[in-house]
Amino acid sequence: MPTLLLTDIEARSPDLDELAERTSAWCTRIAAAHDVAALEGVLGEWDEARAAVETWDAWVYVTFSQDTRDAEARARREAWDAAQPRWTELMVEVKRALLEHPLRAELAGRVGAQAFSLWELEVLAFDPRIKDDLAQESRLTAAYIELLASARIPFQGETHNLSALAKFRQDPEREVRLGSERAHWDWFAQQGAELDRLFDELVALRHGMARSLGLADYVELGYRRMARIDYGRADVERFRERVLEEVVPLCAELRARQAEALGLERLMAWDEPLLEPDGNPRPLGDHDRCVAAAQEAFDSMGHGLGEFFRDMREGGFLDLEIRPGKAGGGFCTAFPTHRMPFVFSNFNGTKGDVEVLTHEMGHAFQSHASQGLRPLDYIWATYESCEVHSMSLEFLCWPHLDAFFGAEQAQRFRRMHLIEGLCFLPYGCAVDHFQHEVYGRPSMTPEERHATWLATARRYLPWQDWGELAYPARGGRWQSQRHVYRTPFYYIDYVLAQTCALQFWAWAERDRSAATEAWVALCHRGGSAPFQELVRSAGLTSPFAEGCLGDVLDRARAYLEL
Ligand code: ZN
Repeated sequence: MPTLLLTDIEARSPDLDELAERTSAWCTRIAAAHDVAALEGVLGEWDEARAAVETWDAWVYVTFSQDTRDAEARARREAWDAAQPRWTELMVEVKRALLEHPLRAELAGRVGAQAFSLWELEVLAFDPRIKDDLAQESRLTAAYIELLASARIPFQGETHNLSALAKFRQDPEREVRLGSERAHWDWFAQQGAELDRLFDELVALRHGMARSLGLADYVELGYRRMARIDYGRADVERFRERVLEEVVPLCAELRARQAEALGLERLMAWDEPLLEPDGNPRPLGDHDRCVAAAQEAFDSMGHGLGEFFRDMREGGFLDLEIRPGKAGGGFCTAFPTHRMPFVFSNFNGTKGDVEVLTHEMGHAFQSHASQGLRPLDYIWATYESCEVHSMSLEFLCWPHLDAFFGAEQAQRFRRMHLIEGLCFLPYGCAVDHFQHEVYGRPSMTPEERHATWLATARRYLPWQDWGELAYPARGGRWQSQRHVYRTPFYYIDYVLAQTCALQFWAWAERDRSAATEAWVALCHRGGSAPFQELVRSAGLTSPFAEGCLGDVLDRARAYLEL
C-alpha cells in the first residue's frame, strides 16, 4: 500500500444544517427500531458522520497550530469554535435517544456498557440553555492561549516566546536561570490584570453553567465533562492525601539531595529544573538526528512501533521543528476517517524534545491501535487512561535512549526522568486541589485565589521558594498552567496516569517484555472501559487502591539509592 500523506487528508467543513436533518432522521429510526440490528445500523451511520466531523476538527486544529499567522486557518478555527456547541447539541439528541431506548441493555450487550456510561455523562453535562455559555467559554480560553502565544520577551539580547525562553530554565549558570525566570514572571506580572479578568469571567461562566444544570457548583459539572465514570471526588481527595503523606517527604528528600549536589545552601525555585551541576542531558545532533534516533528506538521495541513511526514520518504526520508562527507546546490528535494520528511538537534542543516525542507517540500508537474499535467513542479513552498510554511509553523506551543521548547521558537522563516523574506527583495534586477550592468558592476575588494557590503549594511543595520573584511569590504561579484555564480538573489525570506509568516502569525493570506486551494490549483496548477497569486489565493496581503508591515508591527509592 502506498504511504498515506497528510496532504491526502481531505477534510470537509461539516454542513450542520444537513447534519441536523440527518440527526432527526436517526432519532426517528431509533425510536421506531424493534431490534438491535436496526439500532446498530443507525449507530454505524452516525459513527461515520462523527468520524468525518472529528477529522475536520483535527484538521482545523492542526493547520491552525502549524501557522497561527495564517488568516484563513484562524478564520476556520474561529468558525468551528463557534459552531461546536450546535454539533454537541445534535450528538446529545442521538445519545439521549439511544439511552432512552427499551432495547438499551441488549445494545449495551453488543457494543459494551462503556459507551452508555459516557453518553449518560455527556447528556447530563449539556443543555441547550448553556449553548451560548459554551461558545463564550471557547472565546475566553482562546483569548488566554493567544495572550500567552503573543509574549515577546527580551532576554540576553534576543526576543523569545514562552517556549523558547523555557530552555534557559535548565541552564547550568544560576544567573541565567534566575534571569530567565525573572523575565518570564515579569511578563506575567505585566499581564496580571488581564489574566485575572479572564479567569474571573471563566469561573463565573462555569459556575453559571453548573447552576443552569441544577448543580450546586462547577465541581460536579467538571467531573461530568471529564467523564469520570468509576471514581469520584472522594476518591481523588483520598488519593491526594496519600500523596501528601507518602510522596511529599520523598520529594523533599530528593530536593535536599539536589541542593547538595548543586552546592547550594538553599534550593530556590529557579534551581529546581537543573538536576545535576554539569547540566541536564541534551539530545545529540539536530532535529533530523533526533528523529532518526526515535526510529532506531521504536524499531528495537518491536510490536509494530517502528513501522508505524516510519509511516507517520514519511506521510508528514509529524511536525516537530520549532518555526516562527507555529503554536507552542506538543499534542497528538487523529484523523479517524483515515485512521491516522498526528504528532505536533516544538523541538528546542533540550531533553524535553525526547520526553515530548516519546509521550506523544504513546498517544499516537494507542489511537492507531484502536482505530478499528466501534462505536467511535472507544478510539480514545478518557484522559487519565490516555495519559497512561503516553507516560508509560516514556518509561518503556528507557533501554533505547542511548540512540538519542549516547550511553553516558542516557543513564543520567533515566535518573532524572524518574526523579522528575516523582516530583511531578505533588505538583499535579496541588493544581487539582487548587481547582477544587476555586470552583467550590466561585466568589473568591483574584487576590484570594492567589492566596489560595500559595497555601496549597505550601502543603504540597513545601520546599518551593520563589525568593525575590514577586509575582509567583505572591501566588501567581498557577496562571502559567494552561490546563487551569482551558480544561478544568484535567490535571489529576496526569498524576493518576503517572502512578500507573511508574508501575509499568517497576514492572519493566523486572520483566521488560511482559510489561511492554501488557502496554501494547492496553493500547489495543482503547477507551472500551472506564479507567480503573482498564488499569486492572493491564495487570496494574488502581491508584485509588490502598498500598498502590508504597510499592512503586519503594522501588524508586532503591533505584535512586535513597
Ligand atoms: Zn499526554
